[in-house]
Amino acid sequence: MIPVITIDGPSASGKGTVAQRVAQQLGFHYLDSGALYRLTALAAVRQGLAAAGEETLGQLAAQLPVEFSGNDIYLAGDMVTEAIRTEDCGRLASKLSAFPAVRTALLERQRNFLRPPGLVADGRDMGSVVFPQALLKVFLTATPEVRAQRRFNQLISKGVDVIMDDVVRDLRNRDERDRTRAVAPLDPTGALILDTSALSIDQAMVQILAWYSV
Ligand code: C5P
Repeated sequence: MIPVITIDGPSASGKGTVAQRVAQQLGFHYLDSGALYRLTALAAVRQGLAAAGEETLGQLAAQLPVEFSGNDIYLAGDMVTEAIRTEDCGRLASKLSAFPAVRTALLERQRNFLRPPGLVADGRDMGSVVFPQALLKVFLTATPEVRAQRRFNQLISKGVDVIMDDVVRDLRNRDERDRTRAVAPLDPTGALILDTSALSIDQAMVQILAWYSV
């Protein structure tokens, strides 16, 4: 069986960066599942379907013309690596990810990332739904204050004009929606919990590698 490590957790917990570093260390492939939800959101906006219903958005997700090439992501041939990272895109991704039809449409696409020698997958339901057979399941988290500060720093470093109060409110709303939705709610059950509030990226990575090698 091809080994999988799943790293789930809330927004701005650092799971993307940590998951990428773990994948690099092990020479494994990497799946950023949030990017697929963000791509669906961007495709919906570009096709004027942002307010469409579940069936239409499910079809859109099923037919998404995406390509991952190294660190770059393409939607219908257009490079959207940065475009999918906006707060607006994250907000819409969070909304449409509550539709079962969208989640089902993206399921096979996510499983197709599983190739030798192994995969590190990050998201919300990697361990619970997409790769239940994973050898190691990690739930990465941090306090809301630390996560808000990290998101704030990230946005400022990209030159985005934000205020802390908006970042805190946005994170809180997104957390609430991801935790309370009927499908694939964010839930640490079955995973080893790693609180990164006081950890560097390297320290988090070392802990996960240590768990993996046991
Ligand atoms: O992780 P990221 O912030 O890029 O994800 C964007 C949104 O996509 C999340 O807020 C979440 O609602 C949704 N998502 C999901 N399941 C995943 C990954 C992301 O529902 N596996």
